[in-house]
Amino acid sequence: MKKFMVITLLIFSILLLPTRGTYVCHAENDCREVPIIMYHSILKSKKGAYTVSPDEFKSDLLELKKLGYESVFIQDVINYCNGTGSLPEKPVVISFDDGHYNNYTYAYPILKEVGFKANLNVIGSFCEFSTSSGNCDNPNYSYLTWDEIKELKESGVFEIGNHTYAMHKYKPRFGIGKLPNEDAETYKNSLTADVLKLEDKFYSQCGFKTNIFAYPFGKYEKESGSILSQLGFEAFLTCNEGINKLTKGDTSQLGHLKRINRNGTLTSQQFLKNSKLNNATSK
Ligand SMILES: [Zn+2]
Repeated sequence: MKKFMVITLLIFSILLLPTRGTYVCHAENDCREVPIIMYHSILKSKKGAYTVSPDEFKSDLLELKKLGYESVFIQDVINYCNGTGSLPEKPVVISFDDGHYNNYTYAYPILKEVGFKANLNVIGSFCEFSTSSGNCDNPNYSYLTWDEIKELKESGVFEIGNHTYAMHKYKPRFGIGKLPNEDAETYKNSLTADVLKLEDKFYSQCGFKTNIFAYPFGKYEKESGSILSQLGFEAFLTCNEGINKLTKGDTSQLGHLKRINRNGTLTSQQFLKNSKLNNATSK
């Protein structure tokens, strides 16, 4: 009986082993594992779950480079999934949420120095406030102005995504979540109006539109993706933790791309080890 239990336990532990590393990409398919690392603030003055120091950020990029990773845009991921583009053997996406001014002061020069690029998803109302109030140059709390967003986009170092105009809030709705008893039509109209307001700002202030959407707080409803797809969005970033396993010509994963939060209380080595990026293989 004891032996039987030991064998049963052994079988269960094998079944429960993390699937990473055993990911099978069939030889006839072109596949990639694509980690998307999510950052928020880059600050010298503090560290936290959403705040990484400039030194640690630089160390992340250098370590990733040493491990053979090449940074790509979400647009490259879109092109790969729809079959029109390719990805390097070990791609990685560096992703920033919210549009903090400290991304401009600290992350931008480091990205240029290391030769990496990044995805940046901004909150429209915060950028509008920075631009109109002139309260825009404190790395501790300011957000990017439209001119800075334009500059970052035109530099070729950043691609820009939509993180809603004014729905990055806990109340009355949680992010783009539905209100209690909200009917489908009202929900669709509210989401559409907000997201297009930021698209219009991008176009009038910075001269571009985007097809990338990052869900505030990672919150979405079952109909969110189809509403946003009708507006032209092609890739959707969640806060679901994990590494994406993508196949060329298969767009099914673009609706819910996973990201790995870069917790700033960890060192680069700890973070890369915890996220299993220190020994990742592309296939
Ligand atoms: Zn956010």
